[in-house]
Amino acid sequence: MQSDGITARVRRIGERVLAGGAPAFEEAVELFERSDYDVHELFQVANRLRLNRFGNRIHLCGIVNAKSGGCPEDCSFCSQSSRQATEIAKYSVISSDEMVLAARQARGYGAWALGVVTAGRGYDATSEDFRQLIVGIRAITRDGSAEAHASLGIMGDEEVRQLKKAGLTTLNHNLETGRSYFPQVCTTHTYDERVRTLKAARAAGIRVCSGGVFGMGEDPGHRAELAFALKDLDVDEVPLNFLIPVDGTRLANAVPLSPLEILKVIALFRWILPTKNIFVCAGRQHLGELQPMIFFAGASGVMVGDFLTTRNRSVSDDLKMLHDLGLEFGESLLAPERHAAATAF
Ligand code: SF4
Repeated sequence: MQSDGITARVRRIGERVLAGGAPAFEEAVELFERSDYDVHELFQVANRLRLNRFGNRIHLCGIVNAKSGGCPEDCSFCSQSSRQATEIAKYSVISSDEMVLAARQARGYGAWALGVVTAGRGYDATSEDFRQLIVGIRAITRDGSAEAHASLGIMGDEEVRQLKKAGLTTLNHNLETGRSYFPQVCTTHTYDERVRTLKAARAAGIRVCSGGVFGMGEDPGHRAELAFALKDLDVDEVPLNFLIPVDGTRLANAVPLSPLEILKVIALFRWILPTKNIFVCAGRQHLGELQPMIFFAGASGVMVGDFLTTRNRSVSDDLKMLHDLGLEFGESLLAPERHAAATAF
């Protein structure tokens, strides 16, 4: 049941956010937690924040699963962990030609970036697999169809230095959830190892992309923790995933978040991270008929094409949705300040 008191308070916080302020952590926890207010108040502010920063432009990116399965880590949501009894395709690092083809395909979909994603804990710069990935990143960069992004697990200074030299512009490494909930999600590496990877990438001059997965049993406070951690790290891109329970994983029986809950997460991340490129990846299908609402809840992008081991809806459906909404996706949203500088006159 709706309470006018809390709705009025939400409105006041929203006015502060629109004026350039921010919700306090405790306020954010309350907004994630309570449902007795008009969540459409969140959407109005979130949509305005998106328009203020990005106008009508929507970021599209694609990914290629460049090494599938066999990961020794134990992330509870992941179908590629060898500790979980899933049935997925398993293969080693794909060739640089295959990576270039995937980049061209992504560009053909209207995406400006291809994320080369591999299953695994991470790489040592001297390993054969890492050398192969460097060759692939360099090939994508030379081809020029799409920006080369990557998600390769835990990286150190030498690895990110080599990736930067090969032309990588953005490294993804999700924090996945709030710090205090992370041990429930993964026990084989730490939250701090993830944070260190992001800091190493940033220090090497690579843009950082980090977000998480929702619907893993975390509570509202954990969601706020994640949003504020990403704010503190000043990440550039924020991918939001909504758990797709996969048979054989520890979360196989998890109940997907409701459409309204998903939209609320997107909107509150926009409130907390008003200028960041927030894009929605896996789990969009849980929204059903409400998929177009993600932009009015503040998302500035979507991942197009299939996910790592699960299907996305068709690219043509996504592009039709954007077209019907009057949204533009022909130009890169990445580094919008560069775009603004280039078009200011
Ligand atoms: S480290 Fe990555 S690939 Fe490995 S189990 Fe965790 S999420 Fe999956």
